Amino acid sequence: MGKANQDIAAPGRVKEITSQANPAIKEIRALFQKKYRDRQRIFIAEGRKLIVDALDQGWTIRTLVYAKAAGAEFETTAARAVAAGGDALIVPEKLLSAITRRDNPQMVIGVFEQRFKALETIAAKQSEVWVGLDRVRDPGNLGTVIRTVDAAGAKGVVLIGDCTDPYAPEAVRATMGSIFSVPVVKCTEDAFCQWRPRYSGLVAGTHLAGSVDYRTVDYTDRPLMLLMGNEQKGLSERLAGQCDVLVRIPQAGKADSLNLAVSTGVVLFEARRAALVLGDDGDTQ
Ligand code: SAM
Repeated sequence: MGKANQDIAAPGRVKEITSQANPAIKEIRALFQKKYRDRQRIFIAEGRKLIVDALDQGWTIRTLVYAKAAGAEFETTAARAVAAGGDALIVPEKLLSAITRRDNPQMVIGVFEQRFKALETIAAKQSEVWVGLDRVRDPGNLGTVIRTVDAAGAKGVVLIGDCTDPYAPEAVRATMGSIFSVPVVKCTEDAFCQWRPRYSGLVAGTHLAGSVDYRTVDYTDRPLMLLMGNEQKGLSERLAGQCDVLVRIPQAGKADSLNLAVSTGVVLFEARRAALVLGDDGDTQ
């Protein structure tokens, strides 16, 4: 068989399923639990646009589940998934509710293979910006940060230490599809600190005790690794010690701090200010 033929996935199967007790449906429902996601290294994404984007970007689909009552465009998406080697399951809408635990579910969900990049692949490349998250715990925060990184044109996210799972359904939902375009690295604090001396970009930590106003830093002269602290405990002392600069966002009012995802957005858009330009057609960059 020629190389070109070997690269083409064998088509998946199409099946109609009506029972929650079906093993394929049980397996998908189990993906709401982290231990099954970790074991199988797959995750659920909901909604046709997300799934089409993911297929366009070459993500590997295992299964597509869609409502029998969905329109013709869903059948086209299912045909794409099957051609890419995934199985297509046609189900009643109430089964989609049972899978997604939602009263008004999306008409289609996809099960995709997870992807993580290795920390060693991050090099200080001109104008590349990464966001490092220290022990982020809230899936909504993580998803929102991934979406923000995407919108700011930053490169990716590094999850340092005991972080929530980026492939949890709540996190994936909060990314609004950016999970498919933002590379995610996962590492321990030890591994990050060992890698740090080899990184020649600026490492800027955000800290409530930072002595530098985040607006006064020149983010344009080297690549950037922006470190954000845990929701309760802030940035660990050890990670703060790895930073070239600790920046603070000046605040008014009585709030102790900003939300993690909000503060990431504030600093990230400042750091990317020079690179983000509104074009004539309203698009950025
Ligand atoms: N109690 C925590 C502390 O003492 O740091 C609050 C953490 S805050 C909710 C989560 C993270 O958002 C912080 O670790 C920091 O990275 C960032 N952050 C929030 N407000 C900030 C501010 N005003 N200046 C700099 N960073 C801030």
